[in-house]
Amino acid sequence: MSQIHVLVINCGSSSVKFSIINTRSGEAVLTGLAERLLSNKASFTLHYQQQSEHFSLQAPYDHQAAVAALVQQLSKLELLEILSAVGHRVVHGGEQFCQPALITKEVKQAIADLSRLAPLHNPANLTGIHAAEKALGHLPQVAVFDTAFHQSMPKKAYLYGLPYALYQEHAIRKYGFHGSSHSFVAGQAANFIGKPASQCSFISAHLGNGCSITAIQAGQSVDSSMGFTPLEGVVMGSRSGDVDPGIIFHLIEHLAYSPEQVHQLLNKDSGLLGLSGLSNDCRELEQAAFQQGNHRAKLALEIFCYRIAKYIAALCAGLTSLDGLIFTGGIGENSSYVREQIINQLSLLNFHLDQDKNRETRFGKSDDISTPSSRYALVIPTNEEGVIASQSVQVLQEAI
Ligand code: AMP
Repeated sequence: MSQIHVLVINCGSSSVKFSIINTRSGEAVLTGLAERLLSNKASFTLHYQQQSEHFSLQAPYDHQAAVAALVQQLSKLELLEILSAVGHRVVHGGEQFCQPALITKEVKQAIADLSRLAPLHNPANLTGIHAAEKALGHLPQVAVFDTAFHQSMPKKAYLYGLPYALYQEHAIRKYGFHGSSHSFVAGQAANFIGKPASQCSFISAHLGNGCSITAIQAGQSVDSSMGFTPLEGVVMGSRSGDVDPGIIFHLIEHLAYSPEQVHQLLNKDSGLLGLSGLSNDCRELEQAAFQQGNHRAKLALEIFCYRIAKYIAALCAGLTSLDGLIFTGGIGENSSYVREQIINQLSLLNFHLDQDKNRETRFGKSDDISTPSSRYALVIPTNEEGVIASQSVQVLQEAI
């Protein structure tokens, strides 16, 4: 294939994140974001060749309008011609998709059917696919699923202690998310330590606004903290992570919460935001905790780090050996405070921190932040867009 640029589209409920990736160099030629969609504050930002463009979107302020504006900009910049494909991030692929897929009528139907498992995400992803097909119908479109990497989990890891019929009849099981990120950083980590991925075992911690921890053996996911939905697992920006399900009955029966209110509470009002009462943003909380002496911000961060360390230790049960720990995502790549707390909590597993390296490793730098006697503690910047682009090209090459 002579042309190697892929437009990657990541459609959320009120945003479209996009980038053009050169799959040969892995570099992003252009990046941008349309946000606050479906409101009259909808805006569009594009970064290209050290220049940024920012403008308000015109009515109807929807995903279609965002993709149309993107195509207009790409046409103006003469970038439409260089595109070989459009790669879409699709959150839920259920048990059906353990690989990326060329988008056909059947694949779109399957993504729509899987909306019952991801009502917040799959409909938005599908909207992005429809908008891109309308505007860029001449290009092949590929779906890359967040859950696909975790389809290698064994039954003992993905089944809940619930009646088996709920799995058989309603597909209720653990799926795991952030698959593109976990698989990418595990591959990079194997390169870093100079061992074939097939001989490596890692625990990977993707810590961003959403957070998940995955046990990876021989390049395959064997267990992960997120579950049936991305709500399970560690404390996140505004999601609670694990709670006793009994709390939900208590909220409904004794505190008059409706199902919608419980949903809002656990997904939007909890996590770092709920605990601190201040923000879901780790950087803001670190400032509040350590520059302004805000105790609740400090407590929120302590709980966040402790629960992550607890999950890392628990997920070791899924591995037969352990080379090291990988930190990625906005927090994992940048917060030396969070990494220090987590590693200090894990000295029993022989993780020990090199303070200087920890302080110096941020802003897109990869490094081992452990002492020589420790297991590896690697910081590896993720590149979900790069994975989506390269997997899209792979799908096209296989389809030829
Ligand atoms: P992501 O969802 O991967 O973009 O990550 C977003 C999270 O990364 C937010 O909580 C940010 O506050 C956090 N983050 C980004 N840069 C830093 C930093 N320098 N220090 C601490 N947290 C950071």
